[in-house]
Amino acid sequence: MSGKPKFYLTTPIYYTNGLPHIGHTYTTVVADVIRRFKRMRGYEVLMTTGTDEHGVNVERAARNAGIAESEFVARMADAWRALWDELGLSAEEFVRTTDLRHVRTVQWLFKQCKENGYVYKGHYTGLYCIYDNLFVNEPKPGNLCPDCDRPLEMLTEENYFFKLSAFQKPLMDFYRKNPDFIQPETRRNEILSFVEGGLKDLSITRTTVRWGIPVPSEEPHVFYVWFDALTAYLTAVGGPEHEKRGFWPCDLHLVGKDIIRFHTVYWPAFLMAAMVPLPKQVWAHGWFLMDDKKMSKSKGQVVLPRPIANMLGADALRYFLLREVVFGQDGNFSYEALVTRYNSDLANGLGNLASRTAAMIEKNFVGRIPKAGKLQPQDEALAKETQSAIGDVLEHFEALSFARALEGIWAIIAAADKYLTTEKPWSLGDSEDDVQRKTNVLATTAELLRIVTVLAHPVLPDSTAKIWTLLGQPGKVSDIELDGLRWGQLKTGVQLGVAQTLFPRVEKNEAIERMESMTNEELNPAPGPAPAASATATSGGAAVASAPAATEKIAIEDFAKVEMRVGQIKTAERIVGADKLLKLTVDIGTEIRQVCAGIAQYYAPETLIGRKVAVVTNLAPRKLRGVESNGMIIAASVGPEGRPVLAGFHEDVEIGSRLK
Ligand SMILES: [Zn+2]
Repeated sequence: MSGKPKFYLTTPIYYTNGLPHIGHTYTTVVADVIRRFKRMRGYEVLMTTGTDEHGVNVERAARNAGIAESEFVARMADAWRALWDELGLSAEEFVRTTDLRHVRTVQWLFKQCKENGYVYKGHYTGLYCIYDNLFVNEPKPGNLCPDCDRPLEMLTEENYFFKLSAFQKPLMDFYRKNPDFIQPETRRNEILSFVEGGLKDLSITRTTVRWGIPVPSEEPHVFYVWFDALTAYLTAVGGPEHEKRGFWPCDLHLVGKDIIRFHTVYWPAFLMAAMVPLPKQVWAHGWFLMDDKKMSKSKGQVVLPRPIANMLGADALRYFLLREVVFGQDGNFSYEALVTRYNSDLANGLGNLASRTAAMIEKNFVGRIPKAGKLQPQDEALAKETQSAIGDVLEHFEALSFARALEGIWAIIAAADKYLTTEKPWSLGDSEDDVQRKTNVLATTAELLRIVTVLAHPVLPDSTAKIWTLLGQPGKVSDIELDGLRWGQLKTGVQLGVAQTLFPRVEKNEAIERMESMTNEELNPAPGPAPAASATATSGGAAVASAPAATEKIAIEDFAKVEMRVGQIKTAERIVGADKLLKLTVDIGTEIRQVCAGIAQYYAPETLIGRKVAVVTNLAPRKLRGVESNGMIIAASVGPEGRPVLAGFHEDVEIGSRLK
């Protein structure tokens, strides 16, 4: 057993009817940054994430996929875990709610609540869809199911209820005694007024759901969503035996603002009822919006983490998410801002400082870190500035003010750039004075870089590890204790290590196009095993009939899935910042569609008006350079450069005719 203080934090247990997007990634990145930061402050840290695998939606998704629920959730859990591993977000504990240890914990918690008199059997009556097997709280007009549009029926079901109403006063007392329990302040006020308004008892079991944790000796009752999912936080640290591992009560639950109520009202009430100590804090962050709207997969308006990590590196993704928005508020996601920050802050900022410092030490001191002699006032000023920034940065991290912490670190980087520009070590010669001056300037810069590397490590784990190696410093940067970090600890006389690529500059338009293209590929995977050939061809939004290749044969039914129609181009314009794309509006008979096509380098917009083209009309909408594209124009790909040539008709054809 280590004598270190313990720190336990969690992400939500994510629901597995879909795959992670940037919102889930954001929460998990934040948790991972806190985890690394706390560890460098001397804590023994445990982070939990996982997958919520029960319920009707999973039942249905498995049925649609034609596989058993257990098989479906196993695949989903693998996919989530694989993505987190790929992004370097490896929590200590990954709880699947189908794990046996979790089943045990939920049943145990229920038993505690029941024995203490907070659970009773009752009836739940509501509108129910017999096709989807679910109760509907907000039916469509005419009492229709919002999912399948079929008529709902009034159904009464036997349920176990949790006496949430008994906890109004205990919860209010708890919030008052623990003013920091709910963060940020706006969320706290929301919850306080919700609880003040009175609490209704909560149905916590179902008999209409099959895929769930059984209530012991009460089949067909299974536990309902929140009683099951929230308990995963306890499962991860020992379940009924949580006292043994010493990580409970949890220090921090990180959640999206949409699930704050479950975490700050239901969850503490369940725990009070079972006489388990309550978590110390719940922090709700905002959403990443796209063009100020909530992301939505069905509208093709979604950002995925993998394409960004593939293009710019996982560190760049982490940096952007934490730097761009104030933690707790909503933020706007744009690829434009992402690439701009990448180039300015990472490539030109930290990356450039590290590589030019190393190059000058290599050239002037045969790659050995020099030891400073008598410093000049400007060296001392920079040292002082850096030293005093350390405390501020740590305070901001501790308060989860990530943007401000990073601002503080990047202010030091900017100061170093300015210092080098003023001191011009590269212009100094070989006289004794000049060599002494070079020594001091480069030793000062190297020391500043070392401090920046340590401070930025929780956010940029991979690249700071590379810089640490480059500086030839002993041990691992992750083992440095933040509280002991001070100016003057640079190990001198050591040889520089291997230089590795940090943040290669990228061309903005090209990078954005590639990330969007990878996102489209991931959202609409090409059927069959050969998606690589179409990956570049479709990037501009024009489908390109590729040169004859040994493609797999498809059945006529597969072809029939593609709906192609004759369309007429009504308007065409260039898209600012996208050299290859044109924004078109196309009349397809039943409606006018906006479609982007990657043909701008070969077709002048004005020559296209009135032209009849073949359009794929049933493709899921997607975004290209921030412009929605709702369909795809068919073109041949000609020659080695893949020049697009629009498919057309020699005879007059009616707009909207289907191509078969
Ligand atoms: Zn339905």
